[in-house]
Amino acid sequence: MSERFDIAVIGGGPAGAATAMRAARQGARVVVLEKGPHGRDKVCGDGLTPRAVAALQELEIPLDGSHPIDGLRMIAGKQVRELPWGSPGDRFPPHGAVWPRRRLDAALIDAAVDAGADVRFQTEGEVIADDSGRVIGVRTGHGDIHADLVVAATGAPGSVARALGADRDPNEPYGLAIRAYVESPRHLDRHIEACLTVKDQRGTWIPGYGWMFPCGDGTVNIGVGALSTMQGFKSLNLNSLLESYRAIVQDPWGIGPNLERPRAWRLPMSVVQRHGPGWVAVGDAAGLVNPMNGEGIDYGLESGMLIADLFVKDPASAAVEYDVQIGERFDGFLRTGRRFAFLIGHPRLMRTGLRFAVGTERIAQITLQVMGNLVDSSTPGAAGFTMKVADKALAVADPVLRKTRARA
Ligand SMILES: Cc1cc2nc3c(=O)[nH]c(=O)nc-3n(C[C@H](O)[C@H](O)[C@H](O)COP(=O)(O)OP(=O)(O)OC[C@H]3O[C@@H](n4cnc5c(N)ncnc54)[C@H](O)[C@@H]3O)c2cc1C
Repeated sequence: MSERFDIAVIGGGPAGAATAMRAARQGARVVVLEKGPHGRDKVCGDGLTPRAVAALQELEIPLDGSHPIDGLRMIAGKQVRELPWGSPGDRFPPHGAVWPRRRLDAALIDAAVDAGADVRFQTEGEVIADDSGRVIGVRTGHGDIHADLVVAATGAPGSVARALGADRDPNEPYGLAIRAYVESPRHLDRHIEACLTVKDQRGTWIPGYGWMFPCGDGTVNIGVGALSTMQGFKSLNLNSLLESYRAIVQDPWGIGPNLERPRAWRLPMSVVQRHGPGWVAVGDAAGLVNPMNGEGIDYGLESGMLIADLFVKDPASAAVEYDVQIGERFDGFLRTGRRFAFLIGHPRLMRTGLRFAVGTERIAQITLQVMGNLVDSSTPGAAGFTMKVADKALAVADPVLRKTRARA
């Protein structure tokens, strides 16, 4: 049996759901294949920056199910800074949110169904190509689906990415993170918390952070993430790392035991290719994760909306145009972020950088805006200027940082 759609989306996470709902709302015939069940849980910190909230608002997703967040508490050793979310020129809303993925992703995929997308759960897809290598559809256990465009929204690279030649660039950093849920009397806190001075089993500061993200439902999402640029990354024990972070937050948060087994997953931060004849990759499948904070939900939503709009405008040029426009929007920032990852892979540089980054309220506020991708080098004022200087300085230092890191 073979069916035909305008767009076939593989993967029903935020990136796939955003693609589907945006395209279906504009009249495209869309099918989504999701290998998990409805309400599947994605390992995540559940944190939404103001930029992600803006993307949800653009998709007209009511935020009722989420817990609103006013800012970030940044902790570096004994230094604590509580900073409000905010972006120069009010480009984004003044608040973020925490929304457990089981519920957020269900809200998103339900909106895609409401928009008219044909969503099939517990259905695994693999790409089909013609003799010229052009992707022409998706094979499932129930038959083939042909489509003008196949959108890989499959998350961190796996078999679909391999088949498309969209694997991770081996020369670029990636991240690993682990999370659990715990009960805490502070579940209604309106600040998310990031501890930037978590140590591994050898006592070395990791390039990454531990987080407490209050969910507002009696629980807090606790987790730790680290970048692959650190020495000894391959032998890093994420469970031990989580335990050592738990010891730091145990008393201040009054947390109970883990409500479920801690789960870890990858944070892809590059891919060698994100489009080709008949296909594009969106979200994590396109390596769109911010190396400065591990955020990926917003990039999934934005990339999904972009490809949908471009396809509706002109199916023939959509894949190429997507690559250009997504590059203009994110490539510069993400490249700076990856360079930053090599910088903080050197513990001594990280220590000095941290002292500077949280040294004063003003600089910490700029750090937050830069890390949250709420500014770019064209933004007027101090934050935009900082971004411009960081871009330039990291570009110059990058070859040395990579080489010295390799030697370490
Ligand atoms: C521990 C951790 C903490 C994180 N914390 C945050 C955070 O606080 N905030 C934030 O913004 N980001 C965070 N991230 C990143 C965020 O989780 C991802 O960037 C985001 O989920 C990307 O969405 P996506 O739709 O691209 O992929 P996913 O959410 O991974 O969805 C991909 C979907 O594709 C499906 N799939 C895969 N292959 C197939 C196939 N062959 N056929 C059918 N279906 C398939 C999967 O079942 C899955 O449902 C975190 C990541 C980790 C690991």
